[in-house]
Amino acid sequence: MSVLVTGGAGYIGSHTVAELVAHGEEVVVVDNLSTGHSGAIYALGVPFYHMDIRETERLREIFSRHAVDTVVHFAANSLVGESVQDPLKYYENNVAATGRLLEAMVESGVQNIVFSSTAAVYGEPARVPIAETDATSPTNPYGDTKLTIERMLDWSYQAYGLKSIRLRYFNAAGAHPTLPIGEDHRPETHLIPVVLQVALGQREHVAIFGDDYDTEDGTCVRDYIHVMDLASAHRLAIERMRSGEGTAESFNLGNGTGFSVRQVVEVSRKVTGHSIQAVNAARRAGDPARLVASSSLARSTLGWTPQFADLETIVASAWNWHQAHPQGFGE
Ligand code: UDP
Repeated sequence: MSVLVTGGAGYIGSHTVAELVAHGEEVVVVDNLSTGHSGAIYALGVPFYHMDIRETERLREIFSRHAVDTVVHFAANSLVGESVQDPLKYYENNVAATGRLLEAMVESGVQNIVFSSTAAVYGEPARVPIAETDATSPTNPYGDTKLTIERMLDWSYQAYGLKSIRLRYFNAAGAHPTLPIGEDHRPETHLIPVVLQVALGQREHVAIFGDDYDTEDGTCVRDYIHVMDLASAHRLAIERMRSGEGTAESFNLGNGTGFSVRQVVEVSRKVTGHSIQAVNAARRAGDPARLVASSSLARSTLGWTPQFADLETIVASAWNWHQAHPQGFGE
């Protein structure tokens, strides 16, 4: 049996492939390389199909050729700001494309999917830490597309018995401890890599998007989680579905501690030893003030325990990658 990973050339996808391979899984990757890197595939050394998940006939051939029983689905657009500017791109590439993937799975009898979801499904949360049963009300199209896909998965379980585990990531950061893979978005918009690019002298400063939020220092608070801890949760989710458990379930993945944008900059100054310049800027559309996870359900149900929970460790891990690969994958 094999696991097919869509978006396996991307950031969280490639780290999850590495984790699965390290635990003896047969993994095959499908990626259209619209945002992923062939350099990541090269580092992972797994079978790779350069294609789009809308190519359902090819997908069905691959399911059969590799005896795929589980799909781990990362392939998506994932930028909050961009989704506000161009929502239709997100409904097409996330919702419609996932519909094609699910059709192919149902036709081929592939019964398990682990889906890359997000804290953005909650919108402005009524309370923190956020539990999975709390209200979902996305404040941006990105979060709405992920929530819509979760609902497609609910109905697909009822109609076709397609089992799904939806992992709602909070803020992923860090890099693989030994393999040459890490975070490399073009353009980079995520806070920790942007801050580290300032430390490397590749940017003048980091813009702090809003300092008048209702938080301790006025900047947005997020729950940062190491990418390898996200990766291990996918492995555990696959194990759960293969053991016959699971129906259509969602789990938060975070550390349960919030850090403000200013705190992230401060920790990064300490880790890198560089005086990272930060300037105040306007709020970014679609940003909730505070997102912090309760991950107690993932801990109790999946048996998940984050290994790199502390922010300094997470930033240091990202810094190692950025120092060793200042041009990322260099493509
Ligand atoms: N952020 C910022 N400056 C940047 C990039 C991000 O102030 O250059 C803020 C952003 O507004 C948010 C937090 O940092 O409050 C985390 O943003 P990121 O894009 O890393 O992840 P998201 O929370 O959107 O998934």
